[in-house]
Amino acid sequence: MANVKEFSVEEKLSSLVALQKIESNLDEIRVLKGELPIEVADLEDEIQGLHARQIRIEEEINGITEFIEQKKAAIKEAQDLVAKYEKQSENVKNNREFEAINKEIEMQQLEVKLCEKHIKDANEEIAEKAVLLERAKKAIANKEGVLTNKKGELEKIITSTEEEEKGFQDKAEEARSHVDPRLLASYTKIRNNFRNGLAVVPVERDACGGCFYSIPPQKQSEIKQRKKIMVCENCGRILVDSDLNDSVEVK
Ligand SMILES: [Zn+2]
Repeated sequence: MANVKEFSVEEKLSSLVALQKIESNLDEIRVLKGELPIEVADLEDEIQGLHARQIRIEEEINGITEFIEQKKAAIKEAQDLVAKYEKQSENVKNNREFEAINKEIEMQQLEVKLCEKHIKDANEEIAEKAVLLERAKKAIANKEGVLTNKKGELEKIITSTEEEEKGFQDKAEEARSHVDPRLLASYTKIRNNFRNGLAVVPVERDACGGCFYSIPPQKQSEIKQRKKIMVCENCGRILVDSDLNDSVEVK
């Protein structure tokens, strides 16, 4: 039979506090990086969207420019016809023929005016689109600048924390092996319940260090005795006295 050492509650709690502190360090590193990868991905999406917008506006401007060319050609055609009719009107045989030709000339002149109006409107539309295009280009340049910074920041954090993270991971594994398996299971369960990953907390200013629910004096003295695993009745976190919490150092 192997000689299994039975750990005291105090020793169990100390191992657990050590594990909690190591894992909190890992959580901090994760938080540090946490926002940046999302921010970088969001910026890349935004820039892609802006590029699509830029292309769409450029295509619209091209379409309007083509429309203007068509209207210019139509004006030329109408003017040619007017010139032709004016020449014909010099050789009219009667009043009726003269009036018919005049009507044709008027119609073509009207066509010219209409085309000119269309061109004017189209040019105004182009001017509006040009403003939007400029705005999109500026936004792209702006976002690309921010993206470069964020990417650099993330790269720096990854490089600088890589070693630290690895160290804490090794320490966490080591610390886990010192924690009673049943206690470790409850610790992990509690830890997963909270966003800040705190499962073991000290009593601070007569309250739970996790949820700030006040702890009655009787319970506080029991916690200080370190004879039983005590939990906060409000949040379920494991409670330790602040002296025990402070005595465990993690580097
Ligand atoms: Zn609590």
